This record gives sequence, structure tokens and C-alpha cells, in this order.
Amino acid sequence: MIKEKCGVFGIHSEVDKGVSKKIFHGLIALQHRGQEGSGIAIFNGMTINIKRGLGLVMEVFNEHVLSMLRGKIGIGHVRYSTTGYGKLEEVQPFIENLNGKKFALALNGTIANFYEIREELLRKGFKFSTNTDTEVLAKLIAYYYIETEDFVEAIAESMNILQGSYSVVLVNEEGELYGFRDPLGIKPLTYGTNDNEVIIASESAAIESINGLVLGDIRPGEIFRIKESNIERKLARTEKKRAYCMFEYIYFSRPDSTINGILVYNARYNLGRMLAQLYPADADIVIPVPDTGNIAALGFSRESGIPISLSLIRNPYIGRTFIRPSQKMRELSVSLKLGFVKNEIKGKRIVLIDDSIVRGTTISKVVSLLRSMGAKEVHVRITCPPIKYPCFLGIDFPTQRELIASNKTIDEIRRTIHADSLGYMTIDGLIKSIGTDELCLACLTGEYPVRGICWKKLEEVFGVMRR
Ligand code: 5GP
Ligand code: MG
Repeated sequence: MIKEKCGVFGIHSEVDKGVSKKIFHGLIALQHRGQEGSGIAIFNGMTINIKRGLGLVMEVFNEHVLSMLRGKIGIGHVRYSTTGYGKLEEVQPFIENLNGKKFALALNGTIANFYEIREELLRKGFKFSTNTDTEVLAKLIAYYYIETEDFVEAIAESMNILQGSYSVVLVNEEGELYGFRDPLGIKPLTYGTNDNEVIIASESAAIESINGLVLGDIRPGEIFRIKESNIERKLARTEKKRAYCMFEYIYFSRPDSTINGILVYNARYNLGRMLAQLYPADADIVIPVPDTGNIAALGFSRESGIPISLSLIRNPYIGRTFIRPSQKMRELSVSLKLGFVKNEIKGKRIVLIDDSIVRGTTISKVVSLLRSMGAKEVHVRITCPPIKYPCFLGIDFPTQRELIASNKTIDEIRRTIHADSLGYMTIDGLIKSIGTDELCLACLTGEYPVRGICWKKLEEVFGVMRR
């Protein structure tokens, strides 16, 4: 099965000193992007060594393991889980052999036409050991490398065929680091420098976590090659318009990251202010569902003048609750994750702010707990417009059937979650708040920015249903 929504990191250093440790720290800064598994691949001047494992970065790596990963140029990856822990052989980076020479790559995104490419490569005699799009990407680059004997060319040729979202880091045994990004720029990819280093990362906060200076984005459709500390840039493919994943701003990225030139904190703050303008409420306090509701709640509070109350307490040691095998487990995990300060809640008219409603599990449970603690009214405000369509481009939403907004009106949802009022951000308000209209809104509108996708095959492969 395909896994998406991950984090990637890469460093090209002039000195063989603590590089794997920096990648390790970079991955910890990206841990929120994936908690299922993690890996580091590093070139030691002779060969690429790799360590991968299931679990958190801290669980996979320790001083001893890192001390064995010597070298100047390396990449790392954190992987997102769908249902529980996946298979070890699907954890990235992925290593590919090229007539005795190796390269390793790590991907954030989803190659939407990977199935067709896989079939074609199988016909050409390639053998696959997993069913992942990452392996297809590696084999496709290998195929073109054998033809062109040049990585930039091989990546550029591959980009002519690839459809979907892909932000990729790659290291080879020539001692080169590559970073490249799909022409729509769906998933983020930034770069920066440190003393003797060039750094590439999914988010700017990861570059800053190792004291790097953030220089900007790898542009959509661009290939970065770092060799002997020189950056060569090539715009391999361009599209008329970009399609940045709006969910990076709503939920996924850290608020202290700048994604496509926009500080995520500002986007969330503006979304909160906009909600206060669109859906004012007569209330005593504004409470965020932590952590992704926090900054929007601050914006709502400042705009409306209603004081903020941090009376929902998140246990930071509990993993993600988004997807669990059963609905029962999902409901239980809300209680495991959130504690309530009852005195603050009792007798209050509350504005409750969350980033998104997917199945509706979290918000239903939170509203009912607030009521059981004596909340007088609960007015729900959501920074993401109704999510109605599945994502094939890097976010692991459930099937359309499970998306509560795909088959209920807003008032029906309000009744289902027992809220006194419910206000969803509008698409227009979303665009204004983030500050660009070059966004992928496919999960809201059903208009997918990627052309030429064979939906039938995707439905088969992803096992989802489209209207
Ligand atoms: P629901 O409970 O409605 O199915 O999902 C919405 C909740 O899940 C919100 O609280 C939101 O913060 C969170 N959420 C939204 N997208 C994701 C995601 O991709 N991963 C995780 N872990 N949580 C998510
Ligand atoms: Mg949440």
C-alpha cells in the first residue's frame, strides 16, 4: 500500500563530522510529519550505508548507531503511518543499485501514476521488491540514468513522466546530493546553509533546528544538484500555475516553518481572525483543540475580543489518533490525548476552534465532553473548509464514504456533533487567509490539479470510491 505525507532531509557537508547526527536532529524536527518509521542513508566516500527502522526517530537511532553512519553527504526520512506500523522494507530511504554503484532517495508525496510506470518498467525487465511508489521512482531514475549517464538528465526525464506530488532528496556514490520537487509544488521543499554545508528539508524549521540559515524554496519543477558545495539549479519543468497543498498550512507543517514563502503561523492566525469575522459568536471563552487549533484560536480571540482559555490539555507523548483500526479505538484515543480543565469550562459559552473535521470523531467527542463538564453552549469553528473528496496527492484521508462532509449538510454535521453552531472556513476565506490562490484544493472541490491520471487504476490501487 502507498504511504504518504512524510518528511525528508538532506545535507551536503565539506567535513565528515557529525553529519548523521545533524540528519538525526533534522528528522526529529520533522517528526510530526511521520511517526511510523525513519531512516538515514549516508555516503562515506566509498559506499552508501543505511539504517532504517520502525517507530520514532529516537527509537530507531542512538549514539552508537549514529557513530557507525560516517560520511559527509546523506539523506533522511520520516514516514507517516496509515494503519499502525507498516513494513520495515517500505521504510525509506530507498537504495537502488546501478551497475555496482548505488544511490539512495527519500520521497514525500504520492506518485499518482506509479502503477502505470511500474507496469512499464516490469515490461522492461525491472524487478520490484515492494509495492511502493518510492521504489517506482528509484527504478525510473535508474532506467533513465542507464540511458543518459547523468543524474540531472535522468531526473529531468523522469519528471516528464511522473504525475503527482513529489519532494525528493537523493544521494549517490559520486558524492552528490540532489533535491527536486514536482512542477506544481504540491509538497514543500526548502534549502539553506550552515558553515560548510548545504541543507535540504521538507520544512524550514528543520534547517533552523540545526542552526542553519534558510535561503528559500526549491522551486516547483526544479532540480538542485550539490557537488563540492556548489549548488546547481535547473528548472526542468514548469506549469502555468502552482498547486501548493493547503493542508500544509491548516494542519501539517509546524507553525514556525515558512512554506512557499508564507509563515505557517501567519496563515493560521489569519484563518482564526477570518473565522471571527465570518462567524461571530456570543461567548465567554475561546478554546483551541491543541495543538493545531492553538494559533487560529489566538487569532479568533484577538479579532473578537473574547478571551482565550487553554483548558484542553494535550498529552505530547501520545501518538497520532487520526487513523485507528476501529471507531472505538479512535474515540478512546481522544480521551488518551486530551485532558480538560473542568473549572474553566463549567457554565461557559465556548467557541471551540479546531483545524479540520475529517470523520468528525475528534470534534464530536470533544463537544460531548465539554457538555458533560457543564459547558452552557459550544460554538464550533473550523479553519479548514468541508473536506469532501479523498486526496490522491499526499494526504492520507480516508475513503470518501467516511468523510463526514461528503454526505451531510453543514447543519446535519452540526446536529451530529451536538454543537450549538458550526462555522467552517470558506474557500474564499481560506485563500485570503493563507495569502495565495495557488493552492491545491482538490479535497474541498474535487478538482485535482494533476492531469492525465488514470482514476480507475488509482481507485483500484488506493481502494477508494469517488463520486
Ligand atoms: P476526525 O476526528 O474528524 O476524523 O479528524 C479531525 C482531527 O484530526 C482534527 O483534530 C485534526 O487536527 C486531526 N487531523 C487532521 N488531519 C490529520 C492527519 O493527517 N493526521 C493526524 N494525525 N491528525 C489529523
Ligand atoms: Mg487535532
